[in-house]
Amino acid sequence: MIRSLYLFILLSLLALAGVWVADNPGQVALRWDNYVIETSVVVLVIATLLIALILMVLYQLFFWLKSGPGRLGGIFSARRRSKGMDALSHGMVAIAAGDSDGARKAAVAAEKHLQGEPLTLLLAAQAAELNQDDRAARIYYSKMTENPETEFLGLRGLIQRAKAENDLDLALLYVEKADKLKPGTEWVLKDLLGLFLKLHRYEDADKTLTRMARGKSAKSDRVKHLRAVIAYQRALPLAENGEKEKALTLALDAHDLDPAFVPASVMAISLSQPGRKLDKLINDAWRHAPHPDIAKAVKNLIPVESPADWLLRAKRLIAPLKPEHPETMMVMARAALDAQEWGQARGYLNKTADIDPRGSVYRLMAELEERANADAIAARKWILESVEAPQDPLWICESCGRQEKSWTADCPSCGTFDSLIWRKPDQGVTSGDLLEAEIVQEIEAPKPT
Ligand SMILES: [Zn+2]
Repeated sequence: MIRSLYLFILLSLLALAGVWVADNPGQVALRWDNYVIETSVVVLVIATLLIALILMVLYQLFFWLKSGPGRLGGIFSARRRSKGMDALSHGMVAIAAGDSDGARKAAVAAEKHLQGEPLTLLLAAQAAELNQDDRAARIYYSKMTENPETEFLGLRGLIQRAKAENDLDLALLYVEKADKLKPGTEWVLKDLLGLFLKLHRYEDADKTLTRMARGKSAKSDRVKHLRAVIAYQRALPLAENGEKEKALTLALDAHDLDPAFVPASVMAISLSQPGRKLDKLINDAWRHAPHPDIAKAVKNLIPVESPADWLLRAKRLIAPLKPEHPETMMVMARAALDAQEWGQARGYLNKTADIDPRGSVYRLMAELEERANADAIAARKWILESVEAPQDPLWICESCGRQEKSWTADCPSCGTFDSLIWRKPDQGVTSGDLLEAEIVQEIEAPKPT
């Protein structure tokens, strides 16, 4: 009510002023230097009011812009950002689709609109990889490591690059940096283990495996087998350098971790002194994995021994363990043949031929016919049979299929760690073997190209 009254009074005064000015149209003259402006009072009043209004509007606009920092720039940067994000998403889609040209163009556009944004570097690096520009990829990944936000991701890119180029020392350097940055990250530990194994740094590999497998998983067969292989690899140079005690300790550790790991059993048997412990070791090894190399190690414990004595010893040490196993019978057949116990040899060979016919059985049959009966025709018949028979087991790489007579930690052909499995070449992979191969591959660093 009071406000309406004020408004009414104000409007009345303005109307009165208007009427008064209209009734008194006086003249105004402005003189400045050589310029003269002459006008009526009404025009001057209106012009003054208009100028005041414009100044007021400009003043308001100035404060509006000043009040929000970057309000004007914000409008432009929002547009730039939106364009940049579009380019990023197009780039990611192009990478997923394997469109190298599209990815490269999107990376350029994203960098133009989102300068220095961490994600643009990642896009640029991946686009470079897709375009097989390894040098550029390396540079982008290196740049990523300069920003704490993207350092870890950049390191991962650099690790992949170094591994692809088979520069294992450089890859290890980056992996160790990544491990310091985020200790205990799963992929970092896997890479660390794979690289230590490739570089034959077995003690470090063992420590890494201990970090990886805590609690229950440390007791899993997979981890125990790997630790057995690592212990055996550590024992090898010691045995070669004559440090027999140390080598034996490690070989026994390996055997305890995985009694079915033949190379460790063989080394432990070869380095052990005769006695109850050794007999138990042989027993354990043969029961878990009957293998010709174990029989050979047992035989070589006594370097000079008559064939008859070896047959007796084999009957005591090997024959009672897994007596029906083809490997047991093949060891006994060979020992009986050498001791010229023809009847016994024939018995073992016939049994083996029944349950597990294979080349070596028929070759021993041929030898028996020739030596016992001087029957060349029968011997030839068995030789022909041996050619047709399934092959004897071998160490076969589950990664590349290479066949080897002796076990090595790294496949001589493809370099895969612990990929050699004892099996027949024409026999499919058993589920256990397959599992083992998968486990090893899981922790594998890429193979050398
Ligand atoms: Zn291989």
